[in-house]
Amino acid sequence: MQEKISKLKELLQNSQKIVITVHRGPDGDALGSALALQNILLQLNHEATVISPNNYASFLHWMKGNENVVIFTEENEKAIQITNDADLIFLLDFNNLSRIGEYTDTVKNASAKRIMIDHHQEPDMDAADIIISDTLSCSTSQLLFEVLEGLEYKHLINKDVAECIYTGIMTDTGSFKYSSTTDKTHHIIAELITKGADNSKIHDLIYDNYSEDRIKLLGYCINDKLLLYPHLKSAIISLNEQELEKFNFKKGDTEGVVNYALSVHGIIFAVFIAEKEGKVKMSFRSKGDFHVNNIAKKYFNGGGHTNAAGGISVYNIQDTIKKLEEIFIEYKNELLINN
Ligand code: 5GP
Ligand code: MN
Repeated sequence: MQEKISKLKELLQNSQKIVITVHRGPDGDALGSALALQNILLQLNHEATVISPNNYASFLHWMKGNENVVIFTEENEKAIQITNDADLIFLLDFNNLSRIGEYTDTVKNASAKRIMIDHHQEPDMDAADIIISDTLSCSTSQLLFEVLEGLEYKHLINKDVAECIYTGIMTDTGSFKYSSTTDKTHHIIAELITKGADNSKIHDLIYDNYSEDRIKLLGYCINDKLLLYPHLKSAIISLNEQELEKFNFKKGDTEGVVNYALSVHGIIFAVFIAEKEGKVKMSFRSKGDFHVNNIAKKYFNGGGHTNAAGGISVYNIQDTIKKLEEIFIEYKNELLINN
């Protein structure tokens, strides 16, 4: 890793215009790491722009630098121009160019060198010139902290940067509870708090910030839409477009719903299905050794981590549920062995 970091330092010294991009529908880790890196690069007098392929949840909008993020789907020409002019493009929190959706071709066609910093499994080795990948890291934000340490830029981590990195680590570890959370994670978190990250404020802004519609939608999911398969340790929650509309769905409103299905006693595999923008989007969560990324990849054109993955179904919601019920039976032995 140190060798790659030295190469990166050299590249940075020879680059002025820098783009930082993240996966479609960026989460706290993607946006947190991107805004943290941008803040550091601006301090080093680079021209740094964060370009998100599309919009994201409003509970992330408080982060420093959010107001200057260029949304590809909303400011198309500007995003293309900045990307074409860039010397360097950072790819954060994804490892395959297909994950940036409509922004993919622009990045592929740009002449800039590409640097990937990511923690997902099986990085596409053709996606970037320098690949800093640690699949054991709980988050891209934690990995970025270590990269900044390697670059000897740790003194540039101010309160704003600390809060962005804190957010990324917190959201990708389920508030420090997933097994990816290690002693190293807690040491880094301690340093971020020393540098001024207001941990209690951040939890409040991210988690205790529901609109009335959002909390009622969650209630509806649990009361009316939770399908439990206790004999297969599995659960499904699904929402169609009409249901989302009824609760005035806004981006981010269904984030975390899948965790409620997983929090039921005995359930180790939970799936959330939502019909959004004409697509049937899937979220998978599991406990222990049950690898949901394999299922996401094999059946739903997706991927992710052992215990958290996503994908897209080619079926409608009813048929997706049927397909999942078949999958539960196919994986019955693994489901019953685990936990
Ligand atoms: P979420 O369920 O929160 O949308 O995503 C959970 C995890 O799966 C995240 O780490 C995310 O990066 C990954 N993921 C979500 N959707 C996709 C997808 O369509 N393709 C791949 N490869 N990974 C995904
Ligand atoms: Mn992540």
